[in-house]
Amino acid sequence: MNLSERRSLLDALNEPILLVDQSREIILANRAAQDLFGRQIEGLDFSRTIRHPSALQHLDRVLAGNTIGPEPNIVFQMSGPIPTTYKISVSQLENHTEPAPLVLISLTDISHILEAEQMRSDFVANVSHELRSPLTALTGFIETLKGAAKDDPKARARFLDIMEREASRMSRLISDLLSLSTLETNERIRPVSRANVPEIIARVIATLSPQAEAIGKTITFTAPDLSEADCTIIGDEDELIQLFHNLVENAIKYGRAKSEINISIKTDKNLTVSVKDQGEGIAPEHILRLTERFYRVDSGRSREKGGTGLGLAIVKHIINRHRGKLIVESVVGEGSNFIVQLPLINNDTP
Ligand code: ADP
Repeated sequence: MNLSERRSLLDALNEPILLVDQSREIILANRAAQDLFGRQIEGLDFSRTIRHPSALQHLDRVLAGNTIGPEPNIVFQMSGPIPTTYKISVSQLENHTEPAPLVLISLTDISHILEAEQMRSDFVANVSHELRSPLTALTGFIETLKGAAKDDPKARARFLDIMEREASRMSRLISDLLSLSTLETNERIRPVSRANVPEIIARVIATLSPQAEAIGKTITFTAPDLSEADCTIIGDEDELIQLFHNLVENAIKYGRAKSEINISIKTDKNLTVSVKDQGEGIAPEHILRLTERFYRVDSGRSREKGGTGLGLAIVKHIINRHRGKLIVESVVGEGSNFIVQLPLINNDTP
């Protein structure tokens, strides 16, 4: 294969690839490598592009024909507006026409793998932390009940109440984690059944009204007079109940005392549901991050209200599965409006 055939072959690959001769000179850089290191790198010594001692050492070993043993894991980072991490592989080319074998160096972008690993380990650390605090509280109260408060019925009753709250916090956390994991597994599979959204919202309101009324809040629901077909979407009823349950429950939790929660539906191309509260509102810098797992604007307040920090992450996954969109509008000191857009059955092309 001549140089121009090699070039057209290597240009077709997305990974940056360099071909280096025995004197370490770059004799060919494919298009991706030129995009990364500049158009002028052919003819330069390899050490002018990747200044990485282990990469150079390994290259020298391979050039000397020493390719025995496992390939070392050589990783290097390119700085720039978006820092990118590459894994470098060096391999000798079988070559019968050249006097000395050439070496091919390929760079694989592993940034997304590292990011996923980081997210996974952050997630495990978060879950452990979230479970540890109620567990620590429970262990502490068990000690107290066995010792100091053993013969104090009043203290016992109070501590048992707290223990019940902590235990239910743990069980809510576990059920939210299970929901998230099921949703993540199914996210790419579209629901197949039909769901009537006003009916679902009415059921959510019926479930949550006692909780709202107990703290002096009222829920209003405005739905236009629509035939059943107009408000039908392709959707999973249980997931949609969970979606609106989480939004209305948040409006109750974070709304001002004795305030109103207004839920309304309108239809055009999509079916749009708005869950609006009169509450503390959310500052703009938090809005984009609300659907991250365990992201809370005020951790103390969320925990005091029994929050797990996973409600909106679940909401986001359900909306994604239904090919919908979440818009959050909020004014600090006035309140928030969580708007869910879902494709109506007539406009939906599964
Ligand atoms: P949590 O269990 O903490 O309520 P969510 O995922 O449901 O977790 O919400 C994440 C964070 O977003 C909450 O901790 C809260 O700070 C903020 N938030 C959610 N809904 C509202 C709302 N209606 N008004 C003000 N802040 C809200």
